[in-house]
Amino acid sequence: MFLGHIAVGLAGKRAAPTVSLATWLASVQLLDLLWPIFLLAGLEHVRIAPGITRFTPLDFYDYPITHSLVGSVGWAAIFAGGWMLSRKNGRVALLLAAGVVSHWVLDAISHRPDVPVLPGGPYVGLGLWNSVPATLAVELTMFAVGLTLYVRGGGAGRRRVSFWLMMAFLTIVYFGAAFGPPPPDARTLAWSALSIWLLVPWAWQADRIPHP
Ligand SMILES: [Zn+2]
Repeated sequence: MFLGHIAVGLAGKRAAPTVSLATWLASVQLLDLLWPIFLLAGLEHVRIAPGITRFTPLDFYDYPITHSLVGSVGWAAIFAGGWMLSRKNGRVALLLAAGVVSHWVLDAISHRPDVPVLPGGPYVGLGLWNSVPATLAVELTMFAVGLTLYVRGGGAGRRRVSFWLMMAFLTIVYFGAAFGPPPPDARTLAWSALSIWLLVPWAWQADRIPHP
């Protein structure tokens, strides 16, 4: 899942508006921010296997550190713990931790049964990606709801060109990944997946205008 995670971050901003959108997007996408780093370090692995699901050609056969349920809980504890230490707000820290773990839940809905609960399995996955129309329906609906919540929360006025550019960019990346050619190899994929880090400074900049 991709736009579905962004949707949760937008909804999170509505639930805890004092937190920067950058922090929210980092929380819901933390596992995918870490994943290319672990791929490049040779600690996790992915294969390009066109046809493995209808929606994505990627075979996520080894990603226990970033994408196991226990891993996600551990990353959530680190992320929310860091927030708690610096901002001393337990409610927000819990919401951010839930944001991190929501990534695992949504991936378990999208992926085929390759998402580990513990690092060595068992593996879960409801396989939403086996249907392109169902994937698009679920993710685009979530994205629309997330955007509506964000806008209604005062998060996107006319001045927020940067915010809308970011949302357009994410949509283009999403459709490019869904309908474009598969990446040539796992290493190229890992390097291009690092570009997701751009979202953090971009969201921070787009969210700087104070909310009402
Ligand atoms: Zn993921």
